[in-house]
Amino acid sequence: EIVLYFKKSHEIKVQRFSPCDILRPLLLAVTFYPVQEVLEDILDLDLSVSETDDFIQLVSGEKIVSGSIPLAHRYGGHQFGIWAGQLGDGRAHLLGTYMNRQGEKWELQLKGSGKTPYSRNGDGRAVLRSSVREFLCSEAMHSLRIPTSRVASLVVSDDEVWRDQFYNGNIVKERGAVVLRVAKSWFRLGSLEILAHYGELDLLRTLLDFIIREHFPSVEVAEPNRYVDFFSVVVSETAQLIALWMSVGFAHGVCNTDNFSLLSITIDYGPFGFMEAYNPDFVPNTSDDEGRYKIGNQANIGIFNLNKLLQALNPILDPRQRQLAAQILEGYPVLYYTRFRELFKAKLGLLGETKGDDDLIAFLLHLMEKTAADFTMTFRQLSEITQSQLQELNIPQQFWALNMISKHKLFPAWVSQYLLRLKSNMNDSDSERRKRMTTVNPRYVLRNWMAESAVRKAERNDFSEVHLLQHVLRHPFQKHSAAEKAGYSSPTPSWAKDLKVSCSS
Ligand code: AMP
Ligand code: MG
Ligand code: MG
Repeated sequence: EIVLYFKKSHEIKVQRFSPCDILRPLLLAVTFYPVQEVLEDILDLDLSVSETDDFIQLVSGEKIVSGSIPLAHRYGGHQFGIWAGQLGDGRAHLLGTYMNRQGEKWELQLKGSGKTPYSRNGDGRAVLRSSVREFLCSEAMHSLRIPTSRVASLVVSDDEVWRDQFYNGNIVKERGAVVLRVAKSWFRLGSLEILAHYGELDLLRTLLDFIIREHFPSVEVAEPNRYVDFFSVVVSETAQLIALWMSVGFAHGVCNTDNFSLLSITIDYGPFGFMEAYNPDFVPNTSDDEGRYKIGNQANIGIFNLNKLLQALNPILDPRQRQLAAQILEGYPVLYYTRFRELFKAKLGLLGETKGDDDLIAFLLHLMEKTAADFTMTFRQLSEITQSQLQELNIPQQFWALNMISKHKLFPAWVSQYLLRLKSNMNDSDSERRKRMTTVNPRYVLRNWMAESAVRKAERNDFSEVHLLQHVLRHPFQKHSAAEKAGYSSPTPSWAKDLKVSCSS
């Protein structure tokens, strides 16, 4: 029994959806990374004992908490636009719902913990590479204030897992790992789609009512239109989430309907990427030949996915409700652009509204695209440079991204538009502007090369860079001397120019 590691007033409550195999633990836990913040704030655990053998056995799937009946969640989804039937969950075990002292419920899930009834031909495992990426990125996203699943711990093993990393027939041995991840809910669009697809309409209603009751406090449970109201919230929250992704240059990589959360949190960290040189056609996933999930297409994919959700709801809606829901979906572009504008205005330090704001944002993005300027650092350096330096076009050398964009002949024109616009900010000063902008424009994001560098070291049991990144990305808006030394705010090193990531994980 390892229940004693959860403070006494807490309980593990299990909701059973389907039976599943017992966990198949990794044989050897080599390294254990507790994420203190998550363990303390979310799970409210006694940290003094978090690194004991028993705790490691819990987070690596070797033991289960008393009262917990692990289960696997059956879901389907549209992969790359095509209905793919039952896909998952082939390698995640839900341990139960955990209620912390604040009364918050969190679903604990192990990923990479072995086969489930839904594994199809998979081995139920996850490799060190993808687990480290998920671990670092979900925590980084949280610190960027973007709704996301969290990771409470990472356990790395020497167990062998075989993967074809680039789908070229070259199967290599990798190290296995398990993450303990937490979210308010792991339900996806595909959780509902599968029930609609196979005509399990009673179950669809039961599950929807459960999700509404547990997670949609603004939706009235007894309301006959509740499924439409629910849909309306998902439409709006999905638009908000994708706008947030765009504001930090995050490309999810695999926006299939099974990877889109019903709670509109970022889930399923696979071949994601933070865009470096600004490019709406940026595709992080080398397996995505057609660029379906390129960064500039994410907002459109949101509509596609919401449409699939609507199709799943249709069998339990009456004709009037269907029409209503379809109208709600038509409102998505306005919701998206409103949030996008708000976020990018904040990134530029603009207060209030003027007619030319959209143009000013689009003009800057255009110049970035033409000069391949780094997205993150252009905004960051605009937050650090003074107005008088900008006015004189006197750009110090360390502002390397601004130096790139300033090569464009229209840059002075943009600067004068920008400076003129800043004058219309009421009750503002340049230091206030810079202070405001540095709290929304991160200095550090998890660039692919940074993750890759940490993974390569971790493969050799050197977890120093995993540790450094975990530390730095927790405060992405603050300058950090070790991060500067590691080059995290510098141009991408030349060794990393052609790095590739694929769906293999
Ligand atoms: P993804 O592309 O990561 O969203 O994966 C699609 C589905 O395949 C998910 O539902 C997973 O549960 C399943 N899957 C991926 N890898 C494995 C694996 N190694 N073993 C079993 N199932 C897997
Ligand atoms: Mg997935
Ligand atoms: Mg995945």
